[in-house]
Amino acid sequence: MMQHEQGKALPEKRVIEGMTLSIVVPAYNEEAVIEIFHRRLRDAASALAIRLEVIYVDDGSTDRTPVIVTQLRDSDPAVGFLRFSRNFGKEIAVSAGLNHARGDAVVVIDADLQDPPVLIPSMVEAWQRGADVVNMRRASRAGETMLKRATAHLFYRVINQLAEVPISEDVGDFRLLSRRAVDALNRMPERNRFMKGLFAWIGFQQETLTYHRDARAAGSSKWPYWRLWKLAIEGITGFSAAPLKLALYFGFASAAAAFMALAYFLIKTWLLGDPVPGFPTTIVTVLFLGGVQIGSIGVLGEYVARVFIESKGRPLYLIDTYQPADICLQDEKTKNR
Ligand code: UDP
Ligand code: MG
Repeated sequence: MMQHEQGKALPEKRVIEGMTLSIVVPAYNEEAVIEIFHRRLRDAASALAIRLEVIYVDDGSTDRTPVIVTQLRDSDPAVGFLRFSRNFGKEIAVSAGLNHARGDAVVVIDADLQDPPVLIPSMVEAWQRGADVVNMRRASRAGETMLKRATAHLFYRVINQLAEVPISEDVGDFRLLSRRAVDALNRMPERNRFMKGLFAWIGFQQETLTYHRDARAAGSSKWPYWRLWKLAIEGITGFSAAPLKLALYFGFASAAAAFMALAYFLIKTWLLGDPVPGFPTTIVTVLFLGGVQIGSIGVLGEYVARVFIESKGRPLYLIDTYQPADICLQDEKTKNR
């Protein structure tokens, strides 16, 4: 792993002949930051002599985000604009961006400036050294509550106990992917888009850079706890069948306990008689078994629901408009610089 000093300017402009870099930016109601974001991104990318394509995936925003992106596109030919027919969620927005990206490498970055665009040149550098996936690990989480940090930590502990591929903690969706890594992701048809898991699943040569995560520049987080909880369930059920086994073992354990209790009460009654009817034990047993059964059916239901959703084979997302970036024109612009 390589440490990165944030904000350190690269010594010279790197010339990457004939290559295109795609930047995928999921954006949902980001009118407050998207212009500043684009300026910062442009500044950062000017350190690289590479063809550029910036795809803004508007995830059904209800504010002025699409208007602003359209304006950006009018003034900057490197901007591509993909708008969903409604809000499909960040994971799907990222997937759509990857489906449409034409670059030799693709960077996925949030629009709220929590992922600093200045780091893109060092990600490209890691890619040029041969990495297929450049993961960005956050060394700090500014502007996040203790509770959010604690729950995130717990989630990674649990999922890594259960999932078959290791999923690193503190690595978000900010990353660079080589063309073959993107192609691998595009071949995954599932609706359960737990991207962190999918990125880990594809393998290839992975490199991790460390950075300091800033607080949101403006606007508000779209991840209330309820949504994070749903994401956690997606992650666990999408990458592990362990909860199903757990339900099975629970069933066996409680059945065994019931047999032992039966033996105990039979012997006790036989030796001492039964002066008081066993009301409390009955209640306890019924409640316990009932709880285990309902819980297990619930776990089963989570998986059956996923089979149901996948089996419908609906498209992942619906596009309202797609205006691709003019990457050839951008090439001319770079040459003239
Ligand atoms: N986002 C999206 N669709 C959604 C929610 C969020 O495309 O339904 C985008 C959002 O615009 C931002 C990124 O995903 O660019 C991260 O969202 P946010 O900052 O709300 O998440 P956090 O940083 O709090 O995890
Ligand atoms: Mg954010």
